[in-house]
Amino acid sequence: MNKADLLIIHAAELATLRGSASPRRGKDQSEIGIIPDGAVAVVDGMVAAAGPTDEITAEYKAKKSDVIDATGKLVTPGLVDAHTHLVFAGTREEEFELRLRGASYLEIAQAGGGILSTVDKVRAASKAELVKLARPRLRAMLAHGTTTAEVKSGYGLSTPDEIKCLEAIRDLAKVEAVDLIPTFMGAHEVPREFANRRTEYVDLVIQEMIPAVAERRLARFCDVFCEVGVFSIDQSRAILEAGKKAGLAPKIHAEEFKPIGGAELAAEVGAVSADHLMMVNDRGLRALKRGPTVAVLLPGTTYFLGATTYAPARKFIEEGVPVALGSDFNPGTCMNFNLQAILSIACTQLKMTPAEALTAVTVNAAHACAAAEFVGTLEPGKRADVVIWSAPSVRYLCYQFGVNQAETVIKAGNKVG
Ligand SMILES: [Zn+2]
Repeated sequence: MNKADLLIIHAAELATLRGSASPRRGKDQSEIGIIPDGAVAVVDGMVAAAGPTDEITAEYKAKKSDVIDATGKLVTPGLVDAHTHLVFAGTREEEFELRLRGASYLEIAQAGGGILSTVDKVRAASKAELVKLARPRLRAMLAHGTTTAEVKSGYGLSTPDEIKCLEAIRDLAKVEAVDLIPTFMGAHEVPREFANRRTEYVDLVIQEMIPAVAERRLARFCDVFCEVGVFSIDQSRAILEAGKKAGLAPKIHAEEFKPIGGAELAAEVGAVSADHLMMVNDRGLRALKRGPTVAVLLPGTTYFLGATTYAPARKFIEEGVPVALGSDFNPGTCMNFNLQAILSIACTQLKMTPAEALTAVTVNAAHACAAAEFVGTLEPGKRADVVIWSAPSVRYLCYQFGVNQAETVIKAGNKVG
């Protein structure tokens, strides 16, 4: 008999997400490895075994206080948020109301809103202040079942301010339980002082920011907002190639408002993920089909902006493009960190099935941030990041909305929420 540090037993549904080591695509997106009356044995913060309760308890024993009876409950891997901008200062509820009243992007900018208004507040904040502001957000994310999150810089837009934001992410990772995967996004917008010198700003990102970030090992990825009026295809390519040379794997905000070829660029540079993709066309879809890129869909943003064109999740799945979901948590276009809300929107608006949506916030999201070696499934050797839900099934988790269904959150074998 082996000794376990933690045993979770009698889960009504244990969704292991076990299976291939690559992102799940097509029909595999709905294979979530359900075990009825399931159990998980945890040793040294890792999953030692997951299977039917009678088999696991025949092999593993734990102290009574280290056994959790999950009768009637769903148990899943901890959720992975593949896309957040959670380090920010200030909020933009005035802009939210202006938008509801029909204000245009330009009118919002003239009223002091938009990304640049957050840039002003982030530049004025110290690193310690940014950390202090982000800590309760991370605690709340954890309490809603998110145990790993990708986090982008991109509200600094100068070398020292981008470094400040990435150092804030590094410091947060040390003090909070959620695992953070840092992405450099100096190409989130062009700052005001470069408004008439956009090419010079691209040069600054390539020649100064990327080397500074890489040298300090502050980021895993380099991301760019490839969009009409922000960064063109050629500028995005130059930035992502420079990032790659410096060891930062490419990610891209693509086809959010106009299909300008961001999906094709993602395939061309071998991006780990292409994100948003609301307006992707058939050419973009075909390009992604051939490559390893994960499509990270962010339907919370479409919802929050009151838009009606959601990313074509069904087409991606039918064409065999792996789909992940993220919150896009940010103060301007999606003030939500709760992936349960995203599951609901993914089902009702993107017509994803509950199983496909769960894959999208676990194993495929882990692939979208190159963390699948450690998280995203409940298989031996993975980190014991587990959520026990008040819901009895994956279907129920997606069916009920507007309440927090995460009951117990376990991070690396420890109860954290
Ligand atoms: Zn984003």
